[in-house]
Amino acid sequence: MDCLFCAIIDGKIPSKKVYEDELCYAFLDIAPQANEHIIIVPRRHIASLARAADADQALLGHLMLACAKIAKLRGIDASGYRVVTNIGPHSGQTVDHLHLHLLGGEALGGFGA
Ligand code: 5GP
Ligand code: ZN
Repeated sequence: MDCLFCAIIDGKIPSKKVYEDELCYAFLDIAPQANEHIIIVPRRHIASLARAADADQALLGHLMLACAKIAKLRGIDASGYRVVTNIGPHSGQTVDHLHLHLLGGEALGGFGA
């Protein structure tokens, strides 16, 4: 399968690693939308949240908790941050491998701002 994030996870395409564990890998976004912009992906290919199954419940929780850990590692847990996942065309999803965007390091516009 031709998947950019699978290639990044496999090290076939270089990335700036921020965190990894047995279930996920996290790296700096190549085109950051905030001072801190980190992508968190499950090692196993799932196209998007819409393709996740009931059996993926623990994995999805793991990804959310990984975001909280990474925010702490990056020193943005107290200042706050946002976690976003895009699903399908109207969201602007460009890479069809489930991923969470962790955004922070500055006051963010948009929701609730
Ligand atoms: P989406 O738009 O699918 O929610 O998010 C895809 C994200 O992946 C975008 O924010 C984009 O900047 C990032 N991205 C695309 N290609 C690469 C790449 O080769 N390396 C890294 N580190 N990020 C990438
Ligand atoms: Zn993939």
